[in-house]
Amino acid sequence: MKNVDVLIVGAGPAGLGAALSAHDFGLSVLVVDENPRAGGQIYRALQENPARGLGRILGADYLAGKPLLERFAASGVAHLPRARVWQIGHDNVAYLSALSPGPRPEPVKARFIVLATGAQERPFPLPGWTIPGAMTVGGAQILLKTAGLLPPDDTVLIGGGPLLYQFAWQIFQAGSRIQAIVDTRGPIASRPLFGHAISALRAPALLWRGMKLLAAPRRHGARRVRGAAAIRISGESRVDSVHYSLQGVEHTLETSAVLLHAGLMPEINFSSALGCAHFWNRQQHAWQAHCSIWRESSRPGLFIAGDAGGIAGAEAARLSGSIAALEIARQAGKIGAPERDERARPLFRRWRQQLAPRPFLDALYPPPPECFSPPDETIVCRCENVTAGEIRRAARLGASGPNQIKALTRAGMGPCQGRFCACVTAALAAQAAGLGLGEVAMPRGRFPLKPVTLEEIALSDADGLDV
Ligand SMILES: Cc1cc2nc3c(=O)[nH]c(=O)nc-3n(C[C@H](O)[C@H](O)[C@H](O)COP(=O)(O)OP(=O)(O)OC[C@H]3O[C@@H](n4cnc5c(N)ncnc54)[C@H](O)[C@@H]3O)c2cc1C
Repeated sequence: MKNVDVLIVGAGPAGLGAALSAHDFGLSVLVVDENPRAGGQIYRALQENPARGLGRILGADYLAGKPLLERFAASGVAHLPRARVWQIGHDNVAYLSALSPGPRPEPVKARFIVLATGAQERPFPLPGWTIPGAMTVGGAQILLKTAGLLPPDDTVLIGGGPLLYQFAWQIFQAGSRIQAIVDTRGPIASRPLFGHAISALRAPALLWRGMKLLAAPRRHGARRVRGAAAIRISGESRVDSVHYSLQGVEHTLETSAVLLHAGLMPEINFSSALGCAHFWNRQQHAWQAHCSIWRESSRPGLFIAGDAGGIAGAEAARLSGSIAALEIARQAGKIGAPERDERARPLFRRWRQQLAPRPFLDALYPPPPECFSPPDETIVCRCENVTAGEIRRAARLGASGPNQIKALTRAGMGPCQGRFCACVTAALAAQAAGLGLGEVAMPRGRFPLKPVTLEEIALSDADGLDV
């Protein structure tokens, strides 16, 4: 078993921010990440892409990660890439599996753990979303960042939110095209938005960028419709068309590829499986772990930095990692509270600046109502092939939330362990009971969080393992 002061799960901006600061205080740090290189979602493959001619396409926000990655590479912080944490035991031991051939990584016992596992795309279960040719915008962007692949010219993007428009812009930068953006956002309630816009003015660069992204589809000849409803994807062995309704009129677009995006949610699988306290974030329509201002969760010694603790973007993620490291350094006896507070002051100031436009963005891009209430025939749990109708039936039989529905229908029991269905299952249970979103029990994560072999479990030397 390996022993470290600080184990950091995730090498995105939050994990790197935490790692560099903790390392500066003389703490032993190990950063583990599934990906082959550091950078997380936003800076994925940034070490290779400029040389492959993709830097300009991916844009200035992407290239802005270069100094952080260079600092990390030069820091000497231990980094274990292509390794996945699948369980954290009650004794703070993390169990890992390797994602490439080679020796099996040993379990890691850490005094402090920072979960910097980022966000996940919100599932958007529409009729036909499981047909080959339909995938998420984030998935398609990963193909661009890792393999330089672009979607076909007749692609239709469905949903809304900053990542959707950013990816469309990146496609245009590459000199490629898309057919249309079918935006699900309806008319905006202007009064709350106006209030939030005032605080968003503290981040004028972001607003300007947003306007540029929104103008791009028209400039590049892509159709953009707003307020689409009753969206369906059809096709036998492959996607062949998208159907939607606009002010009561049915429309069809023929296409070979559909990219869906309904916003981001914090990745809470570890914190929920570890029994941390959570709350329903009404603005972001998602569960979120309770954290102190220092990003410490309700479980002492377990910190949650970056998007895993609430969607706030890359720079806020990096700052929150550094803030967590200051409190870790204090608890480890490296600094006292006055020094922690002194060092934290400028970080908090910049962090608050980064958070200022969030309420505006959250109000501007609420998740489409469809993603909480798909028609009965829609598959919700892709792993176990469970439809919305089956989930509604289980709820009507008295299953009061996603954890009971899982036992009755197997929704959430497959390899993804509910990551792509539990929030929809919970919403359907809430509707059946006449409750609001977030008023039913939160889906409870269960270890192992990722598929592991029996051999890995058997060889885990696992006193603290409760599988
Ligand atoms: C698909 C997707 C694409 C995005 N693209 C952009 C973009 O282009 N521009 C933008 O501004 N924002 C983008 N975002 C939002 C962006 O990710 C965040 O704002 C920012 O990167 C958050 O940083 P983070 O460090 O909190 O998390 P991330 O950057 O997401 O890093 C989390 C890291 O944790 C690792 N990880 C998770 N679970 C485990 C585990 N069990 N074991 C080991 N490693 C694990 C992941 O591999 C990942 O590298 C994207 C988000 C998603 C989900």
